[in-house]
Order: sequence, then structure tokens, then C-alpha cells
Amino acid sequence: MTRPISGATRLAAVIGSPVRHSLSPALHNAAFDATGLDWRLVALEVAPGEGASAVAAMRTLGIGGLAVTTPHKADVATAVDEVDPAARALRSVNTVVLRDDGTTFGASTDGAGFIDSLRAADVDVDRSRFVVLGAGGAARSIVDAVGRAGAVEIAIVNRTTERAIAAAALAAVARVGTVDDVRATDVLVNATSVGMGNDESPIDADLLHAGLIVADLVYHPLETALLRAAEAAGARTIDGLGMLVHQAVRQQQLWTGVSPDPAVLRAAAESELATRLAAADR
Ligand code: NAP
Repeated sequence: MTRPISGATRLAAVIGSPVRHSLSPALHNAAFDATGLDWRLVALEVAPGEGASAVAAMRTLGIGGLAVTTPHKADVATAVDEVDPAARALRSVNTVVLRDDGTTFGASTDGAGFIDSLRAADVDVDRSRFVVLGAGGAARSIVDAVGRAGAVEIAIVNRTTERAIAAAALAAVARVGTVDDVRATDVLVNATSVGMGNDESPIDADLLHAGLIVADLVYHPLETALLRAAEAAGARTIDGLGMLVHQAVRQQQLWTGVSPDPAVLRAAAESELATRLAAADR
């Protein structure tokens, strides 16, 4: 049940530009409702280059937590007082906590959230070989986290080779690979934007095989061309809400000390995506 807003309600915000289409308000407010915490999260449009001002505003306004999205992650990483190891390696922060003493702590929850989504699907991360398609922000967070979690090998396949080389420097077991690495790997991750808003797949279906686990970070649509092809090949699949939900659970834990049930956030995200799809069809 939604608590009425009072003078004691704590505020969190997602900052970005553009931020109107963020799923964060739907996910986080459903979680606050379920745990009964007197917190609300709103979306705040923050102009490019103003990420550090938003961190300063946390202190002024007493905003307890920030979720940080494009284009502010790098600026915020330099504006907070302290960062976690993933944020330090990636020079990127997606979560800020305002501590009781007024200092700010920045974390990067994407990679750890991705690992949580694998473990929720019973994947043995530390016995697995990975192929990561893409070398942008999402791919980098995954390479960092999967490397820390003890993966056997990470092959990075990207359209722009220089970015693949830079991402491979994030983990000792990572290297630049080719799509042929998919034939002999355990976990395939699509961290490119191919498939977002369309029905394209980042790789040919004949590379997929039974025994493979295929995780697609794309969540619009939720059932991507890649995941359909993976199912047809007998592979197990993890959709884009896996990482989105589990990284948000970690954000709430950091802000409030309470871990919400991932199922609550997933249901909220599915409902919000379905509402948007219905509105787009009208
Ligand atoms: P990004 O930093 O802009 O990186 C985009 C990546 O996609 C780059 O590797 C880019 O390759 C590649 N790419 C783009 N268009 C391509 C094409 N036509 N063919 C081949 N490769 C292409 O974006 P990001 O933040 O990493 O996000 C990547 C995807 O993950 C997006 O779809 C995003 O929505 C999704 N995502 C999901 C979650 C989640 O929680 N589920 C979280 C973060 C991101 P180049 O380097 O060659 O340009």
C-alpha cells in the first residue's frame, strides 16, 4: 500500500537527461510500498554537465539517494566523497548515498546486479566462460564484475576494436574475441544496443547451441530476436529485466539498508512496460 507523503518522507531521485522514460520510479516506488519504507523516488531532469551540482543538491535538500543515468555517471564519480571498487575501476557511478554525516558514497551496482541475476538463475559464475557482445558502459560493468566473481574467461566482441581492447583491460581473464568464441562458451551476454526497439539480433542464430546461457540486456522488447533464437537452439535465457531489477535491489539496500524482494520490482517493471506498449499501439 502506498503511504501518504508526510514531512518525514525521505526522498530519492533518478537523475539523467533525458529521464522521462526511466523505469526507476516504477521499480523503486513499488519496492518502497512493499517494504513499507517511508521513501519516494522521483525523476529529475538534470542538464548535461550538472551531475556534480546534483550531488551538492543532495546535501542541501537532504535527498537520501540518487540513481544516476546517462550522461552523468562519470561526472558523479568524481563528485562524491568515496566510491566502491567497481565505481573506481569503471570511473562511473550509478548510485549515490547521502550518509548521516553529510558525506556522499558512490557505487556502481550494474555489474553486481548482473551477477545476482545469473546466480538467481543458478549459473556458476566462477566455473563459466563468457562472451560479452559490446564494450560500452553496460559491457564494461559486466566485464569488471564477472572478472571479480572469478569467471574462467571473458571474450569481448565489439564493432569498434579499440573499445574492446579498453574493456579487456578491466579483468585479467578478459581478451578481445570474435563471434566464433560463442561456439565454445558457457554464457553469452548481449551488452550492445542491437535489438533495443527493434527485432534485430547481434549475432547469427547458427552460433547458438544447447547448453549455452544467453543473457540479453535489452528489455524493450523483453522477448528479443536473440532470446527467441536462443530458445529455439535449446539454450537457457535471461532477459534484460534480470540486471535492471537486481541492480535496483542493490540501490535500495545501499540507500535504506533494506533489500526488497526482486519479484516485486520485476512485476512493477513488467506492468510499466506493458502499459507503455499498449499506449504506443493506440
Ligand atoms: P553504450 O555505452 O552506448 O554502448 C553501446 C554498445 O553497443 C557499444 O559496444 C556499441 O559498439 C554497440 N552497438 C551499438 N549499435 C551497434 C550496431 N548497430 N552494431 C553493433 N554494435 C552496436 O550503451 P550501454 O549503456 O552500454 O547500453 C548497451 C545496451 O544495454 C542498451 O541497449 C541499454 O539499454 C542496455 N542496458 C541494459 C541495462 C539493464 O539493466 N538491463 C543496463 C544498462 C544498459 P561500438 O563501441 O562499436 O559503438
